[in-house]
Amino acid sequence: AGAGGDGKYVAGGGAKYKDPKQPLNTRIDDLLRRMTLAEKIGQMSQIEREKATPDVINKYFIGSVLSGGGSVPAEKAPPEAWVKMVNEMQGGALSTRLGIPMIYGIDAVHGHGNVYKATIFPHNVGLGCTRDPELAKKIGAAVALEVRATGIPYVFAPCVAVCRDPRWGRCYESFSEDPKLVQQMTSIISGFQGEIPAKGQLGAPYVAAGQRNVAACAKHYVGDGGTANGTNEGNTVATREEMFGIHMPPYYNAVIRGVSTVMISYSSWNGVKMHANHTLITDFLKNKLRFRGFVISDWQGLDRITTPEHADYVLSIKLGILAGIDMVMIPFTYEEFIDNLTNLVQNGTIPMSRIDDAVRRILRVKFIMGLFEHPYADPSLTGELGKQEHRDLAREAVRKSLVLLKNGKNNKPLLPLPKKASNILVAGSHADDLGSQCGGWTITWQGLTGNNLTVGTTILDGVKRAVGPAGTNVVYSENPDAGFVQQNKGRFDYAIVVVGEPPYAETFGDNMNLTIPAPGPTVIQNVCASIRCVVVLVSGRPLVVEPYLLNIIDALVAAWLPGTEGQGVSDVLFGDYGFTGKLGRTWFRSAEQLPMNVGDKHYDPLFPFGFGLETQPTRGY
Ligand code: BGC
Repeated sequence: AGAGGDGKYVAGGGAKYKDPKQPLNTRIDDLLRRMTLAEKIGQMSQIEREKATPDVINKYFIGSVLSGGGSVPAEKAPPEAWVKMVNEMQGGALSTRLGIPMIYGIDAVHGHGNVYKATIFPHNVGLGCTRDPELAKKIGAAVALEVRATGIPYVFAPCVAVCRDPRWGRCYESFSEDPKLVQQMTSIISGFQGEIPAKGQLGAPYVAAGQRNVAACAKHYVGDGGTANGTNEGNTVATREEMFGIHMPPYYNAVIRGVSTVMISYSSWNGVKMHANHTLITDFLKNKLRFRGFVISDWQGLDRITTPEHADYVLSIKLGILAGIDMVMIPFTYEEFIDNLTNLVQNGTIPMSRIDDAVRRILRVKFIMGLFEHPYADPSLTGELGKQEHRDLAREAVRKSLVLLKNGKNNKPLLPLPKKASNILVAGSHADDLGSQCGGWTITWQGLTGNNLTVGTTILDGVKRAVGPAGTNVVYSENPDAGFVQQNKGRFDYAIVVVGEPPYAETFGDNMNLTIPAPGPTVIQNVCASIRCVVVLVSGRPLVVEPYLLNIIDALVAAWLPGTEGQGVSDVLFGDYGFTGKLGRTWFRSAEQLPMNVGDKHYDPLFPFGFGLETQPTRGY
């Protein structure tokens, strides 16, 4: 049993746990009672793919492997290479005594981000502005297929943070500052995992059988979006009411939707590290909400319980596991984790009942998703990666995520732009930069600028394709100086200026002033002072638009981080579709106002939450 890679795993022996006809709990009980402590602790260990040779997996009974956002994948590896790699690892797991399959997880936070040629969807901040939970569900289903195409059955997504301060470097991973909107967008979980049957047991994890769905992970539990000053991994100073009224609500929906796993946040609540918070993890999530899937730590999350990190790893393991963490994402040595946890169990510090609870939860997810019956990739799915249907869906999501903030001066709207013109000017660093359009968590952890990282269409490509048939000449200048614009202004019918933030992820994105990065403001000024212009901002959050700039700009569009399908932007600029997006975040005037969220007593935004002008399409959706 276990040999192959052909998608068929023939269960051997007469053990009940191998028999899919047995009730779920019978299978779990049967398997658990056969397991040694080493096999149990192995299940609780998730190790990095660089270390996860089939031999290591086999020797330590490793239960899970991940591609961390920080690990650079083999350049341009096709889906077949991923499948081969994951299947080989699986072979290591299946050739253990009990043949328990491992589960491979990856950060597919806006599409299958680590994988070349995958469809990259708008980051969550943009999806929130679509206000379209059905669309989010379709995106979840498409991403699930692309992930499965590479042999992977588990994603560390969605991030259901309620970002209350855009200075946070992860704000773009959050759908909205409004808990209700985030709750609605948890529909993406039902896309990832499949729609839970009406009669499902509350709190039970659900993943549809058939290898077209993936186990999802609601993260980061809880309060990650509420830290003081938006500091990544910081401290969320909040009353019980604030914690349960603002940050917790999306988890209710995630659990109702049968989310398989929940990842713990690096952040603290009123000074207590979430990774050590027994009350919120065990008493609330597991006992009160009856969540039956498994709780996973964040990367090095246990180590960071102490300051400095890893100062007392034994204490960290004790606190984390006793708090209720079931699977540990281990960036450093799994030997150290396994040895210490083994000792803590053997000396009675951690009761076996806690270990059994953790392993039951992990096995439950593996059983319900059919991993025991189908541990290997379905090779017929490799063609799903980056397929046209998914790109069309991403393009639709881009169209619906755009928010029109200003349109014209003196009652003369600029948008939609006419396709037929003699010459138009396209300017700005973000007009022809696929990497910046995708943002962080794309191919590499921090993302990359430039057009080589993956396959897609830039905004400039989209503009050219839109106006090409009308015979319009497009002049592109990344950083035109004022003199050039002055001399040539008579020549241009209008200009499109695309500027914004460079890619970033996590702490690298923490930013206390949130101005438009240079030379963006200069480009806007040089162009818009002389030519009628629309400014398209490509950014993970609202940025400060100084009054002098807002004055000279004729039209302003928030495009967020649209992903690989830049044509979604041109579709709407040129009126093939109307603008419909509504701000899922408050657009502040200056960073000094932050945090400032809808519902606050002192609310003085430049554009309020929910704002968004509309234009009539020349053709409908
Ligand atoms: C992030 C998680 C992510 C993990 C694995 C951590 O740094 O906080 O969101 O899932 O890395 O890449």
